Amino acid sequence: MKYYIETYGCQMNVADSELVLSILNEAGYIQADSIDDADILLFNTCSVRDHAEQRVLGRISNERHRKKDKPHFKIVVLGCMAQRIGQRLINEDLGIDYTVGVDQYRALPHILARETGVALDFNSQELYEELLPVHQGSRCAYVTIMRGCNNFCSYCIVPHVRGRERSRPYLDILHDVQNAIGNGMMDITLLGQNVNSYHYRDIEFPQLLKRISQDVPDMLRLRFVTSHPKDLSDALVMEMADNPKLCEHIHLPLQSGNDEILHRMNRNYSYKHYLDRILALRSAIPDISLTTDLIAGFPGESEAQFEDTLAAMREIEYDYAFCFKYSSREGTEAAGFIEQLPEAIRLERLQRMIDLQREITLKKFREQIGKRVEVYVEDFSKKSKSMVSGKTRDYKIAVLSGDGSMIGKLKTAEVIDATAGTLICR
Ligand code: SF4
Repeated sequence: MKYYIETYGCQMNVADSELVLSILNEAGYIQADSIDDADILLFNTCSVRDHAEQRVLGRISNERHRKKDKPHFKIVVLGCMAQRIGQRLINEDLGIDYTVGVDQYRALPHILARETGVALDFNSQELYEELLPVHQGSRCAYVTIMRGCNNFCSYCIVPHVRGRERSRPYLDILHDVQNAIGNGMMDITLLGQNVNSYHYRDIEFPQLLKRISQDVPDMLRLRFVTSHPKDLSDALVMEMADNPKLCEHIHLPLQSGNDEILHRMNRNYSYKHYLDRILALRSAIPDISLTTDLIAGFPGESEAQFEDTLAAMREIEYDYAFCFKYSSREGTEAAGFIEQLPEAIRLERLQRMIDLQREITLKKFREQIGKRVEVYVEDFSKKSKSMVSGKTRDYKIAVLSGDGSMIGKLKTAEVIDATAGTLICR
């Protein structure tokens, strides 16, 4: 039987899909090149925003017609949406045959042997130990180091659908990284909802970074995502400054620049604390690039409170920010707040946020002109076969003249121009 998997949402889902590939391949299923060729279509879903769920439902509705020509064709929903509303999805006539939650992927081959099935139980111990994911990226690998989250930010569905935090054993992580490097991937990103609280036996996160760097000599670039500002320790800052394999970039979600809103988000830090962490990072690693997540229109957010976020953006000058309008998620604390803002206000604030960030990003990218940067060439440029593209150490997309022989190699190049999103190099 052949299967095809579509993945939605964050890098955690990309990594989970790679686990699912490993489980299905081991059980004798074959990965299809396209949906046309597949007998089983799996959707690995995201519940963080309503929009993400609606997109998947739209895709399922577009694909269910295949059952007419291929009666054995099956549709599977995996991931957070399955975990959240898996039984509902099966009960409604949507064409979905199976729903499998985030801790039940090992059971997939057994479930697929049945006509239909639901597997949603949480398993607070599940770390998919001794499973080697099939990394799909040709140049960069995302390696999970922990699962779940204990933070319960008031807007966030993740702890409700992914369970409590647990850290993957060091040797599993090491084998995963070694395997990725052996397959020619030089840029490794360690993944978790809150990597700063990684803890396995006597290994805390800064030690994990040090040990991986020492134990995998061929690895040239190491990154991690996502960091929680309340847990970003001085020890981590020092490790980033001292370890030449750690790239000069950190993604540090701010969410809001206003303390009252941060409190109601249950983020457990103030803007002053956040700024202190940014200053510590910038003082230890002067050329570090900073990216963040921001929410516009959280319930009860006043215009003045929203402007605090804009002021924070101007003060910090992120290289890039992922801006979202608040999306109410059933079951979260914030969904019960009575002062939900109208969609029009959320959208208008989001647009102002995006416009401001575009200006800042353009400025930050233009500041790179004249500098020499190291580009890990990952592919041809989308616009021209005589150009190649890749990422700098500080997580900026760069394009430069070149050919296929440069792909998979590190090139030092001079930045000669920039847009709000790409460095143009030679
Ligand atoms: S840290 Fe907060 S935003 Fe991030 S996954 Fe956990 S609850 Fe969600």
